[in-house]
Amino acid sequence: PCTDFDKAYFQSYSHVGIHEEMIKDRVRTETYKTAILQHRSHIEGKVVVDVGCGTGILSIFCAQAGAKRVYAVDASEIALQANEVVKANNLSDKVIVLHGRVEDVQIDEEVDVIVSEWMGYMLLYESMLGSVIIARDRWLRPGGLILPSNAMLYMAPVTHPDRYAESIDFWRNVYGIDMSPIMPLAKQCAFEEPSVETISGENVLTWPHVVKHVDCYTVTLQELESVTTNFKFQSMMRAPFHGFAFWFDVEFCGPVDNEAESSLDESTKSNPSGTHRRKRANPSEALVLSTAPEDPPTHWQQTMIYFYDPIEVEQDQVIDGSVTLTQSKENARFMNIHLEYASGGRSFVKECVLR
Ligand code: SAH
Repeated sequence: PCTDFDKAYFQSYSHVGIHEEMIKDRVRTETYKTAILQHRSHIEGKVVVDVGCGTGILSIFCAQAGAKRVYAVDASEIALQANEVVKANNLSDKVIVLHGRVEDVQIDEEVDVIVSEWMGYMLLYESMLGSVIIARDRWLRPGGLILPSNAMLYMAPVTHPDRYAESIDFWRNVYGIDMSPIMPLAKQCAFEEPSVETISGENVLTWPHVVKHVDCYTVTLQELESVTTNFKFQSMMRAPFHGFAFWFDVEFCGPVDNEAESSLDESTKSNPSGTHRRKRANPSEALVLSTAPEDPPTHWQQTMIYFYDPIEVEQDQVIDGSVTLTQSKENARFMNIHLEYASGGRSFVKECVLR
């Protein structure tokens, strides 16, 4: 059922600004374009579904790569614009714009390829991956291609003295006035909830931990309801530890490789949800869209969860704990974050919501 939250969500995509921001994110858009062209041999003469086509840009890339037919699906009013763009580019015979939810529209044939730009902040925010799963299970033929093919969500401990100084220490001396009584409120306002901001590789205290690996061919809706992981870091330097950063990357790998498929081991073969299971032929060569702090910035930036007070850590000091990401009951597009962490003999719990 389409809830009021869904209506508000699709409404937010009817504004041009959000599409402009995504399209102007060259890292994002050029990686998709390259990935589509790189997989031209799987797209030429084939049927494609673009899950959440927005302005239609990825659908048009697919048409340019030789697709026989592209179903461009979007529930937002932006679909009307996509239709005009398709006409203006004389692609109406190839690109069929369907204005509706992927969950509701009808497509009367099997498709060979699914392309979608579904990633939200912290990868899973917005829960749009669920719609890709539904499209896959409704229409993708066995052995079909999904772009992107898999995704990784990472986390790492971060030091960010400048951020702390500008939002908190600032109140110590304001035009010569001691305004430090405001500091607790400032901490709450700045750090109670997650924030989306760009940090740099230098802020990161150690190698990241993989919170979740998503294989788009096999991932299930149930698997996404709640994600839990245990982490253990060792700080590579002495520093004030201010919080955790989260980011993701996605890979664009080839489709099911029949040879690799037949050589899958028994444990994988018995996976009941494995209709589209596959073995990656050459993971090291896959194209990657990265939103890591050490890579060129994207509109996703990084998602930060700050503490109210930093923890001073020594070099090699262990930071361990767990994190659970759950779709909010109030609005499945929101994400509840439950974080437990310990270091230097002290332990902490933090609960927050990405909304
Ligand atoms: N593919 C475009 C837009 C990506 S933004 C581009 O790359 O520029 C995601 C789009 O997916 C939004 O326009 C949103 O309205 C649409 N969307 C999200 N969930 C959907 C669903 N369940 N059914 C149809 N469209 C959906």
